[in-house]
Amino acid sequence: MKTIKGLIAAGLAETEATRRIRRDEVTRRVYDEHPELKEIDSRIIDIRKDRLIAVIDHDERLEKRYEIEEESLFSQRERILRDNGIDPDFDSEKPICQKCNDTGFVKGKDGTPRVCSCKQSELEECFDSCGLGDYTSFTMKNYRDDYLGDADSRSKIKKQMLRVMLGMEDTSSTPLWLYSGAPQTGKTYLAVCITKTAISLGKSAYYTKCENLAQLEEDTIDAIKHIDFLLIDDFADDVTLHDDIGTVLNNVLEVRNASGLCTVLVSALPAPELVRGCDMRVSGKLGRAGKIA
Ligand SMILES: [Zn+2]
Repeated sequence: MKTIKGLIAAGLAETEATRRIRRDEVTRRVYDEHPELKEIDSRIIDIRKDRLIAVIDHDERLEKRYEIEEESLFSQRERILRDNGIDPDFDSEKPICQKCNDTGFVKGKDGTPRVCSCKQSELEECFDSCGLGDYTSFTMKNYRDDYLGDADSRSKIKKQMLRVMLGMEDTSSTPLWLYSGAPQTGKTYLAVCITKTAISLGKSAYYTKCENLAQLEEDTIDAIKHIDFLLIDDFADDVTLHDDIGTVLNNVLEVRNASGLCTVLVSALPAPELVRGCDMRVSGKLGRAGKIA
């Protein structure tokens, strides 16, 4: 799996190179159009070198002469820039994205950083590698509280899920949470959107169906033990009894709980039934889990 911070950092060298190439192109164009400016700029560079030597050599007379000459070149330069309407910073590197200054993150209204819109393709790539590849059309914007009626309770659950993901809910006992809801009530849609939101806020996060835990690569299993947020969907007691899933899940939860990392299990079954029927090791942890409802 890839994290959004990792993907953005990986693109940094390319962004820097692009910035440099753009600056060089603009500089070359301006010099082509105004050769006298190019002449002045190269003269300024030469004079600075000569002046440095004069300073080291303690030749104050020569130093003063270079200083005066440099000032005169600067005023000629400014006049050319002004008369031709040339950007005075034409030869400096400029950020490709003005919104985030190429950091990849902007501050939201509430002050928390989130991924900048210029990193949309990095976000898509991250979603893809974090178990969300099959849910490209699921977005928080399209999550409707009034879908299937009962808007109040859907809105309440959505807000609580967000608080849990952001670490705002009381986790004095355990960072493990269980959301039990009736079948066909949009649980997967919400689970996917919460995971995507976590990633959009710069967190490392992963979404998986419980039954798929058995098929995950070993390095993915290792990674999900340490990421900021893990969502396990379609959690059911009998699933934990097959394919070694009970062992994998127990190991993952063991590490995550010890590090205080938030995990949400989403299930269509009520908590008491899950606690009763689960793999015993998982069941012990589930009994102490916070409830979302
Ligand atoms: Zn940006």
